[in-house]
Amino acid sequence: MRNQAVVIGRFAGRGAAKWRLVIVTALVFSLTGSAAQAENPVQTIGSAAAGQGVTADSPAARWATREGRHIKLITDLPDTDRLDEWVTAFDAAVPQWAEYFGRDLDDFRDWRVSAYVMVNKEAFAAPGYVPPNLPSFRFGYQAGNRIWVMNQPTEEYTRHLLLHEGVHAAGFHLFGGCGPPWFMEGIAEYLSTHAWDAQARPPVRVGIIPTDPLAVAGWGRIELIQAAREQQQVPRIESVMKYSDMAHREVAPYAWSWLAVTLMESYPEYREVLRDAAPRGRDTTPEFNRRIYQSLRAEWPVLVARWSLLVQDIEYGWDAERQRVELPARPLPLRDGPLRLELAVDRGWQAASVGIAAGQRVRVEASGRYVVRQPPAGPDGELPRAWETEADGVTIRYHRGEPLGKLIACLVPLRVDNTKPNLPELQIEVIGAEGELTAATDSWLLFRVNEAADQLFDNRGKLTIRIDSAD
Ligand SMILES: [Zn+2]
Repeated sequence: MRNQAVVIGRFAGRGAAKWRLVIVTALVFSLTGSAAQAENPVQTIGSAAAGQGVTADSPAARWATREGRHIKLITDLPDTDRLDEWVTAFDAAVPQWAEYFGRDLDDFRDWRVSAYVMVNKEAFAAPGYVPPNLPSFRFGYQAGNRIWVMNQPTEEYTRHLLLHEGVHAAGFHLFGGCGPPWFMEGIAEYLSTHAWDAQARPPVRVGIIPTDPLAVAGWGRIELIQAAREQQQVPRIESVMKYSDMAHREVAPYAWSWLAVTLMESYPEYREVLRDAAPRGRDTTPEFNRRIYQSLRAEWPVLVARWSLLVQDIEYGWDAERQRVELPARPLPLRDGPLRLELAVDRGWQAASVGIAAGQRVRVEASGRYVVRQPPAGPDGELPRAWETEADGVTIRYHRGEPLGKLIACLVPLRVDNTKPNLPELQIEVIGAEGELTAATDSWLLFRVNEAADQLFDNRGKLTIRIDSAD
């Protein structure tokens, strides 16, 4: 992202509003864009004029304002409690951002953004709250310590956007920039995706996977990923990391950038590299990614496989800890005799130590009994009977078209064609108590029981899997 030019212009107010000479920076970009490059005077973009066009008889004189510790909010929305909640949410998020960026809260002691939540954006021009050359945007925008957010149909999504733009402002404040588009938007999405509970301390928790779509109404990132998965339009993670300045005019790149950061945050070895990159935020050149690739070069094929699996599985309530996938970096070929694998039924995908060669036929048998659902205790404190099953699953409940608890396998390619922008579809095989599969390409072999990600927690027991070549 880049700044276009420094323009000297006049802010023309209507009627009695004063003419005022100000220096503004013309900025380029995106849907929730951000003004890059701290060496340019973005901190003062139009701020000399902000609020000075407000006269006693202008509508802006009656707008609601709120003063928090780190935010001053001005809006043409009705003056209701939600404004207090937004300010509370913002102030509660700042210490979490500081911690994420490895900084002391002292670094934010005097840090405060002016935030405009707008229903009628045009009305914010006359009082000088929206500089005339602020680029058009659909959702939000940030320049220096000023953020602009279009009011959304849900207050949850407006709150999300306030936090999202706030993360950009925090990144510029700390590091003078937020890196290339995928990193800038991915980190902002990660640190603005939150759970809100007015009674909790803190009332906001950022960096979560939402458990309830209604709690993040309007956000829609997971639905977008699921739709892309069904249409086989899943980008490779390297494609996401190459998004241009212009990509984020669309909503989808926000979802993919968020998912890329979510992946890296789910594994300590990637998390460290990701967080080390943030202080290099001024760098928006390919060098930024090159250093990430270099640090993770040995792990990259496994990271790509984990990306495929994350895309395959992501849903509300997805649990990073329970879904963490361990893969052998160099799986041995399946040659001599059968192999046994003890499957934990309360976790996501688990890999066999062997790889399956393209065209190789494999026979799988599974034995064992396990619990797939433990209904909660009734009012008398007694636990109802658990749902027990064997590897064929229970046919009284289905997940993704197959019986709950049924054994499924996944073949994940050892190599991905990096000349194509999108990922190939994963080979998922429904196994049950016994079955055969043939690998389409050289692959890792993984298993799990068929159940929604947020329902695995009450499972118990073990399943023993026997894997043998059928050729
Ligand atoms: Zn953004």
